[in-house]
Amino acid sequence: MEAVKGIFGKETEAVLRNLKVEFMGFGGYMGVDDTTGNLMVNPRYLSNGDKIDIYLDIIHELYHVKQFMNGKELFDKQHAYVDRPTEVEAYRYTVEEARRLGLSDEHICNYLKTEWMSDSDFKRLTRTLGVNC
Ligand SMILES: [Zn+2]
Repeated sequence: MEAVKGIFGKETEAVLRNLKVEFMGFGGYMGVDDTTGNLMVNPRYLSNGDKIDIYLDIIHELYHVKQFMNGKELFDKQHAYVDRPTEVEAYRYTVEEARRLGLSDEHICNYLKTEWMSDSDFKRLTRTLGVNC
């Protein structure tokens, strides 16, 4: 909960109370709808995914909710995914939280590696974040 308060501060309760969650029908893990700011989750991921991964994903996506509230463009196409300032910020905050939980760099690397990220993108992201993979 501290990590969530770190994102929204005094607004935390109000934001969580008003946050709408949509279930995605097909695939994927979690995301934020860039037109509504709603949190999108795949119910299958919620029930079958690793609990720590899910927790960190929630932190990452709530960070995007905050960015959305501040009028930032979440899917800025000028940058590749791993270079996009909104992603780097959200990942930085998530990695900080992962370290606070005591996760090793190896564990964080496994968390950050997704099937749709190329090896070179993965290397770039982890270098940006200062995670030793
Ligand atoms: Zn993201």
